[in-house]
Amino acid sequence: MADTQLHKPATAHTAACNSSVSVIQDQADFERASRGFIASHPTGHIVDEHGRTVVNVNNYNFLTPGAPAPDTVNPSLWRHAQLNHIHGLFEVRPDVYQVRGYDISNITFIKSNTGWIVIDPLTTAQTARDSYELITAQLGHRPIVAVIYTHSHTDHFGGVLGVISEEDVTSGRCIVVAPEHFMHETVGENVIAGPAMGRRAIYQFGPMLPAGPTGHVDAGLGTSVPVGPPGLIAPTHDITYTGEEMVIDGVRVIFQLTPESEAPAEMNFYFPDLGALCMAENCNHTMHNLIPIRGALVRNAMNWSKYINEAMELFGAQADVLFTSHHWPRWGNEDLNDFLTKQRDLYKWMHDQTMRWANHGLVATEIAESLQLPEEFLANEHTRGFYGDLVHNAKAVYQRYLSWYDGNPANLKKYPPVEAGKRYVELAGGADALLSKAQAAFNDGDYRWVAELLNHLVFADPSNDAARQLQADTFEQLGYQCESATFRNAYLNGAQELRSGPPKLMGGPGRGKGLLRAMSVEQVFDAVAIRLKSEEVGGHKLFVNWTFTDINERWVLGLSNRTLFHVKDKHDERATVTVTLPRTTLVAVVTQETTFMDEIQAGNITLDGDPAALLTIFGNLDTFTPGFHIVEP
Ligand SMILES: [Zn+2]
Repeated sequence: MADTQLHKPATAHTAACNSSVSVIQDQADFERASRGFIASHPTGHIVDEHGRTVVNVNNYNFLTPGAPAPDTVNPSLWRHAQLNHIHGLFEVRPDVYQVRGYDISNITFIKSNTGWIVIDPLTTAQTARDSYELITAQLGHRPIVAVIYTHSHTDHFGGVLGVISEEDVTSGRCIVVAPEHFMHETVGENVIAGPAMGRRAIYQFGPMLPAGPTGHVDAGLGTSVPVGPPGLIAPTHDITYTGEEMVIDGVRVIFQLTPESEAPAEMNFYFPDLGALCMAENCNHTMHNLIPIRGALVRNAMNWSKYINEAMELFGAQADVLFTSHHWPRWGNEDLNDFLTKQRDLYKWMHDQTMRWANHGLVATEIAESLQLPEEFLANEHTRGFYGDLVHNAKAVYQRYLSWYDGNPANLKKYPPVEAGKRYVELAGGADALLSKAQAAFNDGDYRWVAELLNHLVFADPSNDAARQLQADTFEQLGYQCESATFRNAYLNGAQELRSGPPKLMGGPGRGKGLLRAMSVEQVFDAVAIRLKSEEVGGHKLFVNWTFTDINERWVLGLSNRTLFHVKDKHDERATVTVTLPRTTLVAVVTQETTFMDEIQAGNITLDGDPAALLTIFGNLDTFTPGFHIVEP
């Protein structure tokens, strides 16, 4: 692939578009992001035990505060990226410290009688370990007596093994506190849609893009996602109701459960003796996603807003500092209540106004096009869309209530991309005619239209190099114009893949493989079921009994009408085989760390009966390709 094709300059249209963006001039967020600075990481380059780069903040030194925005970056995003690039150990208030900027999320240390309470140990062990070493070097060694997971997303627990060990927990030296259903939700997000979500997350976060003014500048919630596998230690204490209190090594904490908000299992909490309120990821210095572009279940914007309001009612009168799991804190009771009020209103405004126009009959694309973020929200860093985007969030609200379908039967059974593409190319008078129309629209700066036109041609004929290159140039200009880092990353990643092809990714479940060890039997069977090659198993009606020796559970796994089903707490007398094994062995088999045959030979699995039914099911499971095509067929 010719490198000369990569990273074109901004066109005059893009430069004009970016120069017209209103950028917040207030320096208060720069002061907040720098306030209480103690020290930075000795090198800013964090490596794993093999010397591979996990994160290197030096790659983003082009974002030095004061550097003017280049015309290849939306100037509002440029400002946000500069804020996210401020990194180091910071004192939030006496006894409360954060390490920020070395991971997409923050790690918070609360001084307790004898050690530290850690909130959210980052994404990978290396970033968490280096953060612990940074605070230890500056403030002296203190043992970690508790870890609190604010919610069930990987960037808030995946680095736990960098600060504590399983043995710290089993010995009782350290407790682990999380909202109820944490384990189920943590694993759940990776079970059914894991492979597709992992692939799409590359578009959202942009880890394959080189850092720089024509490439990766930010990820919205932080600079970038560190590279490394997540770990997990199960909670020892579940928080089950709002108002629940704990005293952890002398530190009082009052919890507020916020299920089905930013994450399915999440909680805010307040330290009454410190006047410090942790808003988890329910509040941020950006508009968040009501659905991330990697894909997820749609979030409940109305509940989200109501939880912020509840936090204000519970803690707003007393708190004098507020911190979160991403970005920088807010200081002072008046300021933090103003922040909470605007965050509360932002999510409710998107919800209410989307549904107002939906009930007038506008479809999602029309609502997304017509809604304009009001000046009250445009005036603040924290209510603008650097991670979420109003265009996407309006569609998320619509989808939650009304589905992807807009109600117009013209869209009920549309041709898929290749079939539609062939017909559109023919309608345009052939590939060359379509290309010349697309080039004319490109010259006019109508990049959204070019993207739609050329998508038909690329899907009709992915070998048309002129179409691929012009589409890549188009995505690139669209990316340069985006205020949302996730939109920018998606466009630039699409451009990169049109020019160079999709990345060669390692096989296997990839994202969250380590987490899958915590799967329940039900989650394992659910994950197996979506891999069944239904076309290969016609005519079979099968029952397999299972006994899991380590958790003392009995299950039936059956095949009926080319579909798997499972039932807990029973064995079926029609079963032709009974399988006896530990749950952990089943998980190792389905995550492809081992095979049934190897485990049977090793004596870890006992079969009683005819194994044919087992072979029919497990011999007809599909495997997923992690680098599947997205911007081409
Ligand atoms: Zn997060």
